[in-house]
Amino acid sequence: MVRFENTKTAYKLKTDQELRKAYLLFRLFSKQLLVRFGGKLVLFLLRLRIPIKGILKNTVYQQFCAGATENDSMELVDLLSDLNVKSYMHYAAEGQRTDKGMDASLNHVLETLSHSSANSALPFAVFKATAFGSTHLFKKKSAEIPLDKEESAAWARVLDRIRRCCEYAKSKGIRLLIDAEESWLQKAIDEIALDMMRQYNRGEQAFIFNTFQMYRKDRLAYLENLLEIAQKEKFQLGIKLVRGAYMEKENLRAVEKGYPSPICVSKQATDANFNAALKLILENLNRCELFLGSHSEESASKVVKWMEDQKMPPNHPKIWFSQLYGMADHISFNLAAKGYQVIKYLPYGPVKEVIPYLIRRAEENTSVGGQSPRELSLIKNELKRRRKAKFQKQK
Ligand SMILES: Cc1cc2nc3c(=O)[nH]c(=O)nc-3n(C[C@H](O)[C@H](O)[C@H](O)COP(=O)(O)OP(=O)(O)OC[C@H]3O[C@@H](n4cnc5c(N)ncnc54)[C@H](O)[C@@H]3O)c2cc1C
Repeated sequence: MVRFENTKTAYKLKTDQELRKAYLLFRLFSKQLLVRFGGKLVLFLLRLRIPIKGILKNTVYQQFCAGATENDSMELVDLLSDLNVKSYMHYAAEGQRTDKGMDASLNHVLETLSHSSANSALPFAVFKATAFGSTHLFKKKSAEIPLDKEESAAWARVLDRIRRCCEYAKSKGIRLLIDAEESWLQKAIDEIALDMMRQYNRGEQAFIFNTFQMYRKDRLAYLENLLEIAQKEKFQLGIKLVRGAYMEKENLRAVEKGYPSPICVSKQATDANFNAALKLILENLNRCELFLGSHSEESASKVVKWMEDQKMPPNHPKIWFSQLYGMADHISFNLAAKGYQVIKYLPYGPVKEVIPYLIRRAEENTSVGGQSPRELSLIKNELKRRRKAKFQKQK
């Protein structure tokens, strides 16, 4: 049994002041209008060179980012590791548009892989395929529109960057996650990911993981199909299972362009899809490895219950639980304390570069049906528990 409401374990690493700050932040995020206009205002002020970096650094940045550089972030990696929580790092600057920027992204991933191979607290790395190529190319490839000569050459460079990352990851013994993006870019990403899994996931362990967004209506059938392919061709399917982060954008585009939305009609439908995928994966662990990217207690509990029923050890090598740094600590640290394999996503980078990532975190915590009310009440409980403990000590 894992008790997620054990706040003493969940917030062991946070000082009172950090917890109060986190409480205030999650409260601010719950104001939809503030987040919607706040994000735009921050970008506008930065463009005008108004000095707000200090404020951001001491608030949202501190909550969700590990540091400005990989080296800066190592102290946190060690602290987490002491509590049985592993990490994976990602240079969180987004939207590279030039070849130079894309090569810089490649170098960041290669450096992270090299760094990770020397540290058992960093068993995974990650990349976003669109950091290695323009979205224009991914869109055309996904829609099966032929590329012209120049585009074909650029696409060959994208494939080369991705292949280099995967090859290096395998050679260093690090698992590599490929993030899922918008549906109109994803078909091209899926094809590359499958190719990489076929090449690098031979043997007992998966090294390359693709991401499956279960808010998409078609993903369960896609997963079933891939499992069949993996069974037949004898490679491991690395599966990062998530619900999906781009719901509003997906629905809006579908309305604007007049096609049926690829997204499930309700949260319940997404959950049903997600649970069916979980069952499929857990019943086929001989052919796949699960990386559960979720802040839902219910989903984590489902996996824990399955493992208990099957009498699996908590540190089963093919099951990983993952949450973002700064979120769902009650899930991460309580699972880790019971011996489950837990891994935190640690984004890093200079304040100005990671603003889009931070705005997405704020928006995610605002969206209706998200986990922030739970987060808020747990932080409040922990602050209360600490006050009470201090009072009793003084008596
Ligand atoms: C480690 C990690 C890695 C991640 N990587 C990716 C990634 O590569 N790509 C990506 O897209 N996302 C990624 N995410 C984000 C993830 O997809 C979810 O957006 C986020 O975690 C919230 O879902 P949840 O499972 O935590 O919990 P919940 O709070 O139970 O679910 C919220 C989610 O349910 C879905 N939902 C909510 N309302 C509706 C509705 N009305 N109709 C249909 N569906 C609805 C949405 O997907 C929403 O995000 C990642 C998350 C984590 C923790």
